[in-house]
Amino acid sequence: MAASKPEGMIDGRPLHPESLMMSYGYDPALSEGAIKCPIFQTSTFVFKTAEEGKSFFELAYGLRRPNPNEQIGLIYSRLNNPDLEVLEDRLTLWDRAEEAAVFASGMAAISTSLLAVLRPGDLILHSEPVYGGTDYLLKHILPLFGIRVVGFTAGTPIEQVEERLRHNHMAENLAMIFLETPANPTNALVDIAACAAMAGRLGRERRPIIAVDNTFLGPLWQHPLAHGADLVLYSATKYIGGHSDVIAGVALGSTALITQIKAFRTILGTMAGAHTGWLLLRSLETLKLRMTAQMKTARHVADFLADHPKVARVHYLGHLSAHDPQYAIYQRQCLAPAG
Ligand SMILES: *Cc1c(COP(=O)(O)O)cnc(C)c1O
Repeated sequence: MAASKPEGMIDGRPLHPESLMMSYGYDPALSEGAIKCPIFQTSTFVFKTAEEGKSFFELAYGLRRPNPNEQIGLIYSRLNNPDLEVLEDRLTLWDRAEEAAVFASGMAAISTSLLAVLRPGDLILHSEPVYGGTDYLLKHILPLFGIRVVGFTAGTPIEQVEERLRHNHMAENLAMIFLETPANPTNALVDIAACAAMAGRLGRERRPIIAVDNTFLGPLWQHPLAHGADLVLYSATKYIGGHSDVIAGVALGSTALITQIKAFRTILGTMAGAHTGWLLLRSLETLKLRMTAQMKTARHVADFLADHPKVARVHYLGHLSAHDPQYAIYQRQCLAPAG
């Protein structure tokens, strides 16, 4: 478990995330020397004493501040579990995030995060298109809680979006900008840095949170936090899981933001189970190999389809022409066209 995080260095040089996916954050000495993290298929954890249990609960529920280097003790698998803790530590490495939270699905990660941040009267601005489940959450569920939802088509110049917000006096309530870039299913790109700059100009008391659904390029080929985003969201069902045998989701960001989201995860009960955590630990070991192979083979498929007489259009990031405004965003923001 995460209690004694190894630093991931050799001779003072940091190891690449792919080198750390077998070992980071796991101490075999805590699990009878097992080289692989076991599946901690347990609901509850035993306390050494009643006093220890009291102290764990006080920290978990924010009733006292942690002592230096103190981590929340294991209590109950809705709050935390070793498989999730190790997985969360490993996931932070790819996006260089302070903290991660794993969920039962991508939609659980997205819905829990949005509910943790947004309040009645707030406005959320989002790019379009977005994944069908997210689209439903934005248009049909969030409004039930008094949250205003405004969309803009990916590709619209951000100055125009800002002008529209100001013109309609919507800037003061703007609490979140939600981006899905590249978008599912069109691969349309949105400029994360331009949205972060807009958030800085528009925010009054609090800067709106920039959330990015990074499912289509991450965690290898796009790192939204480096472009000014605050929150990175994933359906881990896709590349991260990679074997079509698990549904899961992830949220990554600062310790403060993820702590706020984890409080909602604990109460809404949207965390992943231990077995899901273990399956994703298995998946992360091959993440770079798989995503690299998928990236290479996708180019052959895209080239074949682009030349095919029966295919009208291919939406492939590797085919963007240098004249396309999307190309400049791709060059700045993305490391490869992915699969
Ligand atoms: C699949 C997907 C989701 C939803 O994830 P689930 O794991 O199915 O809940 C969200 N966003 C994008 C971009 C997706 O492709």
